[in-house]
Amino acid sequence: MLEPALYIAATPIGNLQDVTDRVREALQQATLIAAEDTRHSKIFLDSIGVHGTRMLSCHDYNEAQRAEVIAAEIAQGGSVVLISDAGTPMISDPGFKLVRELCARGIKVTALPGPCAAICALCVSGLPTDKFYFYGFLPVKDKELTEVLSSFAHSCATTVFYESPRRIAHTLELMYTLYPEREAVLCRELTKAFESVYRATVSELYAQVQQDSNMQRGELVLLLAPAPKQTDEVLPPAALKALAQMLQEGMSLKGASRVLSDLLQIKSKLLYQAGLTLKSKMDFNG
Ligand code: SAM
Repeated sequence: MLEPALYIAATPIGNLQDVTDRVREALQQATLIAAEDTRHSKIFLDSIGVHGTRMLSCHDYNEAQRAEVIAAEIAQGGSVVLISDAGTPMISDPGFKLVRELCARGIKVTALPGPCAAICALCVSGLPTDKFYFYGFLPVKDKELTEVLSSFAHSCATTVFYESPRRIAHTLELMYTLYPEREAVLCRELTKAFESVYRATVSELYAQVQQDSNMQRGELVLLLAPAPKQTDEVLPPAALKALAQMLQEGMSLKGASRVLSDLLQIKSKLLYQAGLTLKSKMDFNG
């Protein structure tokens, strides 16, 4: 028998074998199953041998009202399992308002963890996992999309986005204008037969997506690497001016860096890097 509570249960994101024993047992024993889409979930419940349990739909727009029914069910000794169409409820899925309301009422809420596309993508990405930021779905309108993407220009953590296959090319195009050299990873159809993971720079990924229409199909998670660390060491303006002058006078970058390094006791590498930027600007301006 399940203890009276709300159970947040993660369900598979593609591979039906990714349902845990705890989730299966909870769904078998629940007095009520709250689901994002009851018709969709019935197919999954049938596949794991759960038939005939009372079900209740639970969406973003009816959660407050559903909280009343669910709270009453638990108060009478019932156990309610919340599931979404796939993965972990509340991760870009309904359930937050319901959980908040039950917590406020002092009702026990517990989790039955399992699949989540964001975590699955992060694990296979090869990008840093020590700090990560889950953004979820990106805005659809261009102005907001550009604002959001710009806000990650200096991010210090890996960022995880959910993106629609219809919009992936455009999103990568905008990212390409902002940070073409940044590492990015596109995960498609995780845990399914055609799972694929593309690891590249934003610029390469944008080119690949344009060439290969398969990359614009199925379910996608897009990950953006943290911005490269800015060097803490700032070149004094006088050193920068002297370096620019030496380069303009035709001295080699290596030579100018070495001379100024000796003269000003500044790391030659720092001068060399600043010189590369100066040179590219000089080339650009003719
Ligand atoms: N709650 C879910 C979770 O825990 O990941 C996410 C639900 S959200 C409505 C659906 C989005 O998750 C998809 O549009 C896609 O971005 C991502 N997603 C879900 N399953 C996926 C899969 N098998 N492979 C790649 N992305 C997936």
